[in-house]
Amino acid sequence: MKETDISRTILEEYNRRLLEHLENDVVIVGAGPAGLAAAYYLSKSGIKTTVIEKKLSIGGGIWGGAAGYNVVTFEDKDILDEIGVTTKKEGDLYTADAIEFATALGYKAKKAGAEIFNLIEAEDIVLKEETVKGVVVNSASVRMLGLHVDPFCICSRCVIDATGHPAELVGMLKARKPELFPKELQEYFMNVETSEAGVVEKTGEVYPGLYVAGMSVCDVYNLPRMGPIFGGMLKSGKKVAELIKNKLKI
Ligand SMILES: Cc1cc2nc3c(=O)[nH]c(=O)nc-3n(C[C@H](O)[C@H](O)[C@H](O)COP(=O)(O)OP(=O)(O)OC[C@H]3O[C@@H](n4cnc5c(N)ncnc54)[C@H](O)[C@@H]3O)c2cc1C
Repeated sequence: MKETDISRTILEEYNRRLLEHLENDVVIVGAGPAGLAAAYYLSKSGIKTTVIEKKLSIGGGIWGGAAGYNVVTFEDKDILDEIGVTTKKEGDLYTADAIEFATALGYKAKKAGAEIFNLIEAEDIVLKEETVKGVVVNSASVRMLGLHVDPFCICSRCVIDATGHPAELVGMLKARKPELFPKELQEYFMNVETSEAGVVEKTGEVYPGLYVAGMSVCDVYNLPRMGPIFGGMLKSGKKVAELIKNKLKI
């Protein structure tokens, strides 16, 4: 075996995966809890799904729990049971280990068939015939360094903005079509009593081809933030998957 055999193997495998996923049923931007839950439920139904994550690790805001204390909370545990996460009942809440939750969700999404590309950042959307048809992506390090390097595109029948704060894809649309989203994209003050249900209720299509899930929903509809309680994120991911399944008639 030569050094270049290792390099060739990695390059061939990565390029094979990338080429296979230039066209998809669904592209999800953001591998936080909402994006990964959507990826799991879509892929489980046989929908060709690609997740783009700009950071090195998946999981978004899961890892740190609250203020770095890596415990996450939920109001119910059905989805956690389904993905095999250990829970404990503490009063009205269930707790889980943030590390177990993040890794289990990523593992289940991947095993269900989702392709996940980390270190890739969505820098724009593809908009044709007044419909969102994909994302313009670049290497996250290129974006981080602000280098003048052209991107490539990953296309799909539907795109999910699961970027958390500040709903980056919706922001890209708003920048050119401000009349669609007259209010500033921002969450409202913390109110845990209404926020979880509000996020799930408002999860859906905000423009032909573009869906919002997770904390992006709060920003788009100015809903209250909720802090480190994650059930709404999972339910929002599950709901957006159901909506897209119905739309694509799969
Ligand atoms: C910095 C931070 C701030 C938070 N603020 C709040 C808050 O104000 N209120 C609250 O209730 N909870 C907050 N949380 C808590 C909790 O983490 C979130 O509620 C929860 O993680 C949101 O889940 P999500 O899946 O919607 O998005 P996130 O967990 O935020 O995941 C979004 C993912 O999208 C990725 N991403 C973003 N833009 C792009 C792009 N252009 N291309 C590719 N990937 C992209 C991010 O790297 C991230 O991994 C915060 C967490 C963090 C880490």
